[in-house]
Amino acid sequence: MRRIVLLGPPGSGKGTQAVKICEEFGIPHISTGQMLRESSLDDPELDREMKAIVARGELVPDDLMNELVKERLNEDDCANGFILDGYPRTMEQAAFLDSEVGIDGVLLLDVPLELIAERLGGRRVCLNCGASHHVSRLKSGECPACGGELGTRRDDAPETVRRRFQVYELSTRPLIERYAKQGKLMRVDGSGSFEDVTSDVLACVRSAV
Ligand code: ADP
Ligand code: ZN
Repeated sequence: MRRIVLLGPPGSGKGTQAVKICEEFGIPHISTGQMLRESSLDDPELDREMKAIVARGELVPDDLMNELVKERLNEDDCANGFILDGYPRTMEQAAFLDSEVGIDGVLLLDVPLELIAERLGGRRVCLNCGASHHVSRLKSGECPACGGELGTRRDDAPETVRRRFQVYELSTRPLIERYAKQGKLMRVDGSGSFEDVTSDVLACVRSAV
């Protein structure tokens, strides 16, 4: 059983590494950011409100996130484990997650802020499959995964990125301490090439059972 949480600032490469873990271990990649971008809530007014929150770089309310994640974790494909990317992001979410399932390991992707600014500025997202890519690694204007059209994320605008960092420092960083105390934290240097980071990440996940 591998129930893994990926922790790290916006743009630390959680999504990219999560895809690798998912390929290697056959467990689903659950990205709450992607869930919010791709799906619509039943209530159109609430849906607009949530999309506006995301576009400002703020956090969607805990109750709603907890509900969404709980439903997702109850699906059959999560029976042998999962990789959570972008959740939990607050102490309240972490407490909720603990009350729902036991987590086997938490991987922290440690990346200096200067590098992150560059990564986010060059990030392109596939409008078809949702995969993220960096311009420096693209050979054409199409998604390498599915051939779909690429675009930028609204919340990658510089002012919004600044807000997302503030939110990370304030609400999410305290989780590092929480998971360290539980003895679940594994720190990976996320500043190297994606391939180097991947091999460290996979080694950590292998050890988390
Ligand atoms: P990144 O990790 O690059 O910031 P994500 O795709 O994980 O991007 O998240 C994008 C946005 O979606 C967040 O800035 C936030 O507005 C919203 N979001 C995602 N996950 C959560 C969560 N667990 N709690 C609250 N808001 C969330
Ligand atoms: Zn694609």
